[in-house]
Amino acid sequence: MFDLEKLLRDNIRQLVPYSSARDEFKGEAQVFLDANENSLGSPLTKWYNRYPDPHQWKVKEAISKIKGVPPQHIFLGNGSDECIDLLFRAFCVPGKDNVIINPPTYGMYEVSAHINDIEIRRATLLDDFQLDLVHLENLVDENTKIIWICSPNNPTANSMNRQDVEIVLNNFPGLVVVDEAYINFSRHKSFIQELSDYPNLVVLQTMSKAWGLAGLRMGMAFASEAIIKIYNKVKPPYNISQVNQELALKALEEVDQVNDMIRQLVGMREALARELAALPIVRVVYPSDANFLLVKMDNARGVYEDLLKDGIVVRDRSKVELCEGCLRITVGTEKENMELLEALASLR
Ligand SMILES: *Cc1c(COP(=O)(O)O)cnc(C)c1O
Repeated sequence: MFDLEKLLRDNIRQLVPYSSARDEFKGEAQVFLDANENSLGSPLTKWYNRYPDPHQWKVKEAISKIKGVPPQHIFLGNGSDECIDLLFRAFCVPGKDNVIINPPTYGMYEVSAHINDIEIRRATLLDDFQLDLVHLENLVDENTKIIWICSPNNPTANSMNRQDVEIVLNNFPGLVVVDEAYINFSRHKSFIQELSDYPNLVVLQTMSKAWGLAGLRMGMAFASEAIIKIYNKVKPPYNISQVNQELALKALEEVDQVNDMIRQLVGMREALARELAALPIVRVVYPSDANFLLVKMDNARGVYEDLLKDGIVVRDRSKVELCEGCLRITVGTEKENMELLEALASLR
């Protein structure tokens, strides 16, 4: 029932992709006069006068070793944002198709839909922040191309029940995107090992959170080879710069250091949650599978403004449905968390 060719936009199915100089010639040579680069060099050192590898094979091989997913099942984007946008552009016909999100959730799915003139349908999460499968099913029609599931979810911090996600994967004939930006902080298993079971699955991860590289802009999509081929067909030819590829490769050697940071952050998250819960203004600290906490408190907007006066900025989610009265607080350093707790304790 899942037919990737049918799901694709007609213009993308027929698209002849751009063929770069790096695509057309891949062999060994001494003299490269095929790409109109500056043959004299660059003001910077090394090979920055040359175009980078359009498919980032070295980076993908390093990711492959860590994740246990073959490189042909990996797409790298200029942040997850690019991985999200390219799916809209490849699969959704502007003014006709629709996608479903499960709010409250990450804002980029909706913004990207609007940029591409795609209708957004909303299956608001249940009161326990889990998927509303009945509502989801009712929203699906023949023009529904993608269901976006964020797990662990931003801003509610919980993971979606695995069985619920499996039900969607097994029954929806379009793409199911599981955004796992926060998966490294979660007790739950990634969906990355299930790609062979689900031809309609796209798993998004990123180097912006656990890897500590939000400044690098490196998003990862994991999917069937057929879906990755479509990504490659529609992407800008050199979407990941040489600098980004080199730095990502270097960072990927430091997986032990990153795992240490993850362990530390999870420990600090739990400590911060306990201390927040003990404050009189705090009503609920929701369980978190991420590196942030969703906290319901008295007069959340007022607390937000008072914290700003102390130079502390958190995210005000108090007007977001199901998050009424809540602030979203990133786990900081020990010192930052202490400052936050002191500032909150001094409020009355
Ligand atoms: C932070 C975040 C991302 C990361 O986006 P990048 O463009 O890779 O920085 C993706 N999804 C969710 C849900 C996030 O919260």
